[in-house]
Amino acid sequence: MLTMTIDGKKAAVPEGSTILTAARSLGIEIPTLCWLEGLDAYGGCRICMVEVEGARNGVAPACATPVVEGMVVRTDSESARSLRKSVLEMILATHHADCFNCRKMGACDLHRYSVEYGLPKIETGLEVKGRHPDTSHPFFDYDKNKCVLCGRCVRVCSELQVSRVLEFAGRGQSARVAAAFDDPMAASSCVSCGNCVSNCPVGALVPKRKSWLGALYVDRRVRTVCGYCGVGCSLELLVRGKRVVGVEPANGPANEGLLCVKGKFAYEYIGHPDRLTSPLIRKGTELVPATWDEALALVAERARETVERHGADALAGLSSARCTNEENYLFQKLFRAAIGTNNVDHCARLCHASTVAGLAKTLGSGAMTGTIRDIDNAEAIFVTGSNTTETHPVIGSRIRRAVARGARLVVADPRRIELADEAELYLRIAPGSNVALYNAMASVLLSENLGDKAFVEARTEGFAELAAALAAWTPERAAPICGVPAQDIRKAARIYGGAKSATILYAMGVTQHESGTDGVVALSNLALLAGKIGKPGSNLDPLRGQNNVQGACDMGALPDTLPGYRKVTDPAARAAVAAVWGVEPPSRPGLAATQMMEHVARGLYDEGLRFLYVMGENLALSDPDLARTQEALTAVDFLVVQDLFLTETASLADVVLPAACFAEKEGSFTNTERRVQRVRKALAPPGEARADLEILVELLRRLGLPQAAQSPAEVLAEAASIAPIYAGIGLDRLGDAGIQWPCPDAGHQGTPILHTQAFARGRARLIPVEWRPILEPVDLEYPILLTTGRLLYQYHTRTMTGRSPGLDRIAGTSFVELAPETAAALGVVHGSVVRITSRRGSIEIEARVSDRLEAGIAFMPFHFAKGAANVLTSGDGLDPEAKIPELKATAVKIELVNATMPR
Ligand code: SF4
Repeated sequence: MLTMTIDGKKAAVPEGSTILTAARSLGIEIPTLCWLEGLDAYGGCRICMVEVEGARNGVAPACATPVVEGMVVRTDSESARSLRKSVLEMILATHHADCFNCRKMGACDLHRYSVEYGLPKIETGLEVKGRHPDTSHPFFDYDKNKCVLCGRCVRVCSELQVSRVLEFAGRGQSARVAAAFDDPMAASSCVSCGNCVSNCPVGALVPKRKSWLGALYVDRRVRTVCGYCGVGCSLELLVRGKRVVGVEPANGPANEGLLCVKGKFAYEYIGHPDRLTSPLIRKGTELVPATWDEALALVAERARETVERHGADALAGLSSARCTNEENYLFQKLFRAAIGTNNVDHCARLCHASTVAGLAKTLGSGAMTGTIRDIDNAEAIFVTGSNTTETHPVIGSRIRRAVARGARLVVADPRRIELADEAELYLRIAPGSNVALYNAMASVLLSENLGDKAFVEARTEGFAELAAALAAWTPERAAPICGVPAQDIRKAARIYGGAKSATILYAMGVTQHESGTDGVVALSNLALLAGKIGKPGSNLDPLRGQNNVQGACDMGALPDTLPGYRKVTDPAARAAVAAVWGVEPPSRPGLAATQMMEHVARGLYDEGLRFLYVMGENLALSDPDLARTQEALTAVDFLVVQDLFLTETASLADVVLPAACFAEKEGSFTNTERRVQRVRKALAPPGEARADLEILVELLRRLGLPQAAQSPAEVLAEAASIAPIYAGIGLDRLGDAGIQWPCPDAGHQGTPILHTQAFARGRARLIPVEWRPILEPVDLEYPILLTTGRLLYQYHTRTMTGRSPGLDRIAGTSFVELAPETAAALGVVHGSVVRITSRRGSIEIEARVSDRLEAGIAFMPFHFAKGAANVLTSGDGLDPEAKIPELKATAVKIELVNATMPR
């Protein structure tokens, strides 16, 4: 600590403080326009001048002046104020200060300081820089005449978001912030994250929404967690009356003040007129409004009837990765305890079921081993099967920041994703060749002595068998399978194995294969042989997709595990649960989601499934082989759907229950790094819609199992009493930072890095796995291999993002991406309409030509109902352990329909 005197008072501040940070920590405000927490001092605006004894001229910029021992500072002296006033006058001279028409009014730092420093006559009213505002962008407007050149937007864009879109251009009077070539924002490479907008201190960058009335008119700001992806960004909902009118990033552990386009701007769905506002019951072909009592009575009656006539295993439920932990816990309890079946699952089946199965075998825990923040500590980063900048954008920015600081990046993906452009080494591997690649990398670790022998000996088992199997996996053997040169495989292994610390990040490019579990095991082998697991900067990180997919798994919304991953087949686990529930859950594992559809359609399970309850999922679009899925949803005797909107799945239901969205409920989500975070209610659900928790409590009562614990805090406490990894977690303990499980008791602070001393299963297991070909290789009839994925600008099946006109303007239609060579061979140009046909169906969509792919490979996003990729994908041939389908490799044929897109 250093001692200083500030405004006449002695204070001790941490070494490394600047005068500005020291003053802030002592509650003293010094004005600034350019300073940004988390970045080095810039010293650009100069309104933070303070008097410093002994300084040259007696003054210094507070933001850029480090505190030294014995320093004497006066922050509010006459000379400091006079200097600040002069600087403000200079800024105002070129500022178009029509404050009363400005959307920043009430939240503008320049206006506040001007009033404070006695400069209230702000009425230039001129377009002093002679340029009209740029209103081209769907989400924000940019008015150069209001820009004070503080540089915050430039620095956020280049140093934190690392999109490098904004820069300073020009000199003197023509100095300005601009995108390349002074292009309009909409034509630039802007990714619409809005982090520049959130950090603009004046009215130069403002959200476009007409309803934005400035912070003066916001009734309250509610801190919560984003309802989109698994990063779990903290944010504040700005609420006016009964509406969310804006979103600002909050400084949470996962995002540290950043958001992506969905978190920042795609909140229109919250109060959208399409929201379901009352229960619906099917009468003939129509869904007609009903009371809650009628709807819930019908659901309970049909559930009871089905159990009586066909047994409990004729019912199944799909829980929701978008709902809270407490809701997922009650959902699986409803099925296990009140109905008596383990037929409960959720969408993790289609994303990381292979991770849960694979890492449970090798490490004993199927979750991300490190933290998002710990990516900063990695000397090398291996990203494989994850288009991180689009699927987990805020983590994507963190990887880019690490690379900018010198981390070595290796990317392996069939598509040349954005991160590949920043990588030291990009491996354009063939879809389905993951196991061969990881085996060959592991083999290089052994042959070139890059592994960590001491770690392997002390902490793993099965080395001899794995080493024997890997001996055959030379890079030369893997090269033709992967479609990359052997020397590149060697280089990748050397970068990864040779770094002092290295982290692997992966997602569905690894897991969505018939060999998905083997892919995860092969990655685990690689990390273990390198000794790069359970240490700072060295982790194996599966990136979970939806906001609470981790929590839904933790809470036991899986057919074979109870809350906390205790097996349904384990009598002791069942007894522990029975002690809390008063009912013992069944011992036979239930059906996986993918099996449910197959069984309904084919009547395979005993007498077949008769009753299906879907909470917050849209299988009619998200599941593979849509024709079969829709057939199953139609064939089931009774379908209940609980959702925000009348989705494709809800429109097939017998009963539709209107639910609340994340902004309308209390509880917790668990993000991809196992961090349990607080979700807070900002407003009431629309009409008669109810929080899922309330609906489930009522159904439990109607099915004869009254739920004593009813509030989110009480329900989480009940779940924690069953799930040891959550034992010390309570809603009241979460605060703003959350807690990472395992958290064994109420005094425990949580576990940022797993497996530091011992693996969850004791010693980690090294398991040899052999590569096998994809299920549907190309042939003469279907000569092109289709792979699917997500877009930055859409989420899942667009039930939420599809209500954002801005997102739809940027990415509102389905398309297929083709390599130039493939397109040329088909006579297709950018914008042509093509017909894509697989063994299951056919669609017509727009083609886009892109050098991100190589010849013979096609890519499609899966979000869209019109031109749905899942018409083509297969639901057969599931991974034998994880029951996940091979969504990443489908053989198709593509034919030209129209040379150019009809307008
Ligand atoms: Fe929300 Fe994910 Fe975007 Fe963060 S990165 S704002 S959690 S969608």
